[in-house]
Amino acid sequence: MFDTHVHTRFSPDSNLKIGELIQKSKDEKLGIIITDHYEFGSGKDCFRFNEKDYFDTLLPLRHERLLTGVEIGLNTLQPENLLAFLQKHSFDYVLGSIHTINDQALDQHFFSTHTKQEAYEKYLKHALFCLQAVPSINSFAHFDFISRYAPYPDPAMEYRQFSDLLDEIFKLLAERETALEINLRYSHPQYFSEYQKFYQRFKELGGKYVTIGSDAHSPGQIGRNLKTGYELAAYCSLSPVYFKERSPQFVHSAQCCAR
Ligand SMILES: [Zn+2]
Ligand SMILES: [Zn+2]
Repeated sequence: MFDTHVHTRFSPDSNLKIGELIQKSKDEKLGIIITDHYEFGSGKDCFRFNEKDYFDTLLPLRHERLLTGVEIGLNTLQPENLLAFLQKHSFDYVLGSIHTINDQALDQHFFSTHTKQEAYEKYLKHALFCLQAVPSINSFAHFDFISRYAPYPDPAMEYRQFSDLLDEIFKLLAERETALEINLRYSHPQYFSEYQKFYQRFKELGGKYVTIGSDAHSPGQIGRNLKTGYELAAYCSLSPVYFKERSPQFVHSAQCCAR
């Protein structure tokens, strides 16, 4: 199996040491793509690794099953800088995320001034806009990120409630053969049944690829719940891939069942 979403000490919200990651990869025969945060926008300097340090540290360690990626924060504040950054560096994998709505944090103030419908629509509209503006990502991370921190009584993102916007996002990804991530960070017993409708819909709209990632921020989280992700992909007839030199690599079923 391949864990395509792992944060190391190069992300301010992770304490994972590279040595621990290498050990885990060996012990569990797990392929890993390192995807540390890189955000554009004001006040986000700490979510931006030192590029020289990143590549000087990671490139000598890079091999077939330990690849170098980035989780890029998508926004429309500095699209030219963002595109130039992606062109400048030879990442194996670019994972696109929406953690803010441009510079507006998804915090208490935001949620207290928006209903769930308003907040989620704003988030998804912004995601669609950013995905249209930045075509060069390989996979779109945690499409329902906003539901992680929303304080509403039922924060889950229902497909039927936001189907128009989700369909537009899924169609755009499918047209570009961009993957849709299965993010297992907050996986729970109902994960499979709750998420199958999203991934089935992605398939119906022409989607082919999914990337599967734990979104680990500590050593114990690496590889966590990946099996659920591979089962979900198989159930929805989507191909799990990882990216090497920005090209999709298929994860064979024998590898899927290794754990
Ligand atoms: Zn993220
Ligand atoms: Zn992440």
